[in-house]
Amino acid sequence: MDELAELRREVCALHAELPRYGLVAWTSGNLSARVPDAELMVIKPSGVSYDDLTPESMVVCDLQGEVVEGDFAPSSDAATHGHIYREMAEVGGVVHTHSGFATAWAIRGEPIPCVMTAMADEFGGDIPVGPFALIGDEEIGRGVVETLGGHRSRAVLMRSHGVFALGEGPRDAVKAAVMCEDAARTVHLARSLGPVEPLDPDSIDALYDRYQNVYGQR
Ligand SMILES: [Zn+2]
Repeated sequence: MDELAELRREVCALHAELPRYGLVAWTSGNLSARVPDAELMVIKPSGVSYDDLTPESMVVCDLQGEVVEGDFAPSSDAATHGHIYREMAEVGGVVHTHSGFATAWAIRGEPIPCVMTAMADEFGGDIPVGPFALIGDEEIGRGVVETLGGHRSRAVLMRSHGVFALGEGPRDAVKAAVMCEDAARTVHLARSLGPVEPLDPDSIDALYDRYQNVYGQR
């Protein structure tokens, strides 16, 4: 199946963006892509160093997180990714990181307030906090879906844990993870200098609409 081979290549290549943008330490962090028209996803193998990832080492799982094809055990977050794909039909890519600034907000249980245009563009408002949940079963997935369902933000700060970022495809999801960390860092810097003021809702709506519908190459 050529499509699956191509998706393995894409998911493997996108993993290189996580260390490149400083979002991960050691083997933490992972991303996956939904296999179109199948109840399957392609995800990172568990505990393999970023430099050692190859397209062949990517794991194909069903949406319960069980291995369908691959020589390695999947990421321990596979059930979470699968739950998100099952519950959110519009999502085609999921990224999970413990990136430092965003996770610092998650540890405090504090949403990142929408105080700059780039956040309004990308997230359409605050980046919300999701509930605390233990790793391994679908509780994290439920928390992600509950928090982001009906929310414009494509990133959530899971309490005392880290970031889950979603996209129409895996590349969009990586972008959301990068922009979430960037926002977390910049708003942290601003707030360390003094109080910050949220953008007004009308401006947020206008910025979000322009960025989502007009910005970039068409
Ligand atoms: Zn984690």
